[in-house]
Amino acid sequence: MIDFSKLKGKIYFNEKFIDNSKAKIHALNHSLHFSASVFEGIAIYDKKPLFEFDHFKRLQNSAKILKLDFKLSAKQFSKINAKLVKHNIKSNGYIRPIIFRTSHSMSPDTTYCKSSIAIACWSWGTLFNKKSITLGISKWPKLNRKIFPIEAKSSGSYQSSVISRIEAKQQGFDDCIMLDNEKYISETTACNIFWIKNNIVYTPSTDSALNGITRQAVIRILKKVKVSCKIGKFRMKDVLNADSVFLTGTAAEVQLVGKINKTDYSLNNYIFDIIKKNYDLIKSKSLKRLSSI
Ligand code: PMP
Repeated sequence: MIDFSKLKGKIYFNEKFIDNSKAKIHALNHSLHFSASVFEGIAIYDKKPLFEFDHFKRLQNSAKILKLDFKLSAKQFSKINAKLVKHNIKSNGYIRPIIFRTSHSMSPDTTYCKSSIAIACWSWGTLFNKKSITLGISKWPKLNRKIFPIEAKSSGSYQSSVISRIEAKQQGFDDCIMLDNEKYISETTACNIFWIKNNIVYTPSTDSALNGITRQAVIRILKKVKVSCKIGKFRMKDVLNADSVFLTGTAAEVQLVGKINKTDYSLNNYIFDIIKKNYDLIKSKSLKRLSSI
């Protein structure tokens, strides 16, 4: 467990590199009250960010959707990250940029609020840190594109995920699957979901799920190694019938699922092994862009 308020090292905070301990916001911060910040998570392998350009583009788009100002160019963003990595990381880690509003309103009216940016960076491993995890099924529906701009990685879209993760852990699971309001499979609380059945890989479309950068990397890997990947709308019965199930995410990488509720899944699947091998190779090359796969 890390107490992030006690992180050592430097953070980028509104155009300055300052000590982490000094990066404070007021209790009456607009984004804290109205959940309208946007953020990213970028993995660092051997001191180099993976898919930095794609994370930059998603952050830029998320800020545009949430009407926050984000003025950094891709080059400036990259330079800041390189400086933070140099200050804070010995080998592997994580970069967390967040854009949020100042404290100039205590209502949804943002006329007088300005946009702030913080970019933190710390040493880190993988999210689950075990060979396989268990999933429950959340009772809370995931928001979809028709009612919320879920293509933005914004704090507001995580409310049902946070409650769902608390409940999943109370029930003894590591995480849970979230369904949309029509009971189609969406994703888990912070990862995209894939499954393998008879040598075909399946994953839900992004109507109610974040289009994860790791998800996009895996889809590109599958195309490259000529394994069929079907993207669409699926029900729980489709996953429960699968041979193997795995999650994707920057922090989780490619993560096997051993159990969903009471159903067990194989941890030995040669297609999963091919995906993992290729993903590990991509990590070792520290690709800047998904398009280089
Ligand atoms: N879905 C959600 C809700 C997430 O929070 C994340 C983590 N960013 C993902 C999927 C995976 O996205 P990525 O591969 O870009 O990390």
